[in-house]
Amino acid sequence: MSEIRFEAVHHSYGERTVLAGIDLTLTERRIGVVGANGSGKSTLARMINGLVTPTSGTVSVDGLDAARKGRQVRKKVGFVFTDPDHQIVMPTVSEDIAFSLRRSALSKAERTDRVTQVLTDFGLDGHADHPTHLLSGGQKQLLALAAVMVTEPDVLVADEPTTLLDLRNARLMRSTLAALPQQLVVVTHHLDLLDDFDRVIVIDGGRVAADGAPAEAIAHYRGLIG
Ligand code: ADP
Repeated sequence: MSEIRFEAVHHSYGERTVLAGIDLTLTERRIGVVGANGSGKSTLARMINGLVTPTSGTVSVDGLDAARKGRQVRKKVGFVFTDPDHQIVMPTVSEDIAFSLRRSALSKAERTDRVTQVLTDFGLDGHADHPTHLLSGGQKQLLALAAVMVTEPDVLVADEPTTLLDLRNARLMRSTLAALPQQLVVVTHHLDLLDDFDRVIVIDGGRVAADGAPAEAIAHYRGLIG
């Protein structure tokens, strides 16, 4: 597993302080992050691969500062957004997945093999030439995930990956995530997603309000939201 480390992390957007001193060392395989809307979960998640630079403090992955070594960190850490439309850039499913490999050193044949494998892994093999804009919400979310996983990151950070999905697709996404061998950091409001996670962090008031096994951390969170 990678070591994801937050050291004295503060973050403000203008006058508004969102994170007010986060210290965490994450080495577990499956880590959940919960908190009320606006509590700074997305900000925290985005710092892991350098999409947001902390106002002060550092975030590092295996000793690489995510703010300074963003390119290197993003090779290790894949990121899935809540809304797959932010991530899907090509007209067809297989082209979109292949696009993720545009900068890789793989040969054309190796890229084709990888794309084919990922299409199968994510249940999209019947949709390789399908126009991406005609996919269902659930299929789009799977595609966004497939297009990240094809790069074989060590860590996957997923920001509310089931929020826009109906119950059936949310379940499918849950089982798909559960089957991934990678280290996972998942921000979610779907608390049942975290049942078998190794560690759950509760963010409240810009700080870590609880941190531990899912049952205890989630009970603490339920107490916070009443
Ligand atoms: P969460 O994921 O817990 O809902 P966010 O990290 O998205 O929280 O946002 C925390 C707070 O920061 C919210 O009040 C949000 O409106 C604000 N915020 C988030 N991103 C920006 C931004 N780019 N510019 C200004 N304010 C932002």
